This record gives sequence, C-alpha cells and structure tokens, in this order.
Amino acid sequence: MERQRAQDRMVADCRRFPSDKNCSLTIAGTEDEVLAVAVRHAVNEHGHADTPELRNQIRGLLQPERSGAEAVGRMA
Ligand SMILES: [Zn+2]
Repeated sequence: MERQRAQDRMVADCRRFPSDKNCSLTIAGTEDEVLAVAVRHAVNEHGHADTPELRNQIRGLLQPERSGAEAVGRMA
C-alpha cells in the first residue's frame, strides 16, 4: 500500500528539469523529502514560484532510485 511506497527512495535529477542553468544536482530520499528539497532548490536556485503546479511537475519527474537507467528509458 502507500506505506511501502513511501519507503522506497526516489531521485529527482535536476538535469531533467526545464531550466536555463546546466544544473546537475541530484536529490535522493523519500518522495516527501525529495519533493521538499527539490521545491526549495527550484525556488532558490532557479527562480521558480512555489506553486502547486511546480510541485506537481517535480513530483512527475521523480524516479525510483533502484531502477535508475531503466526508468529514464521508460520516461524518455
Ligand atoms: Zn537545479
């Protein structure tokens, strides 16, 4: 159920975010942790506004840590 999913580490790779900077930051942790840090990073470093849309966009770019390259291929 939801609890089991929350224990899996997720990765947010800033290279996959639309941005002007060539930012190579990768954030890993639980979905909630990654989302919180990624939103802060997007706002502070990339000048995005902290909106529900931004959060949805970031959440959509999260990938399970263990399937790494596979997930990238699937999403591309
Ligand atoms: Zn970045």
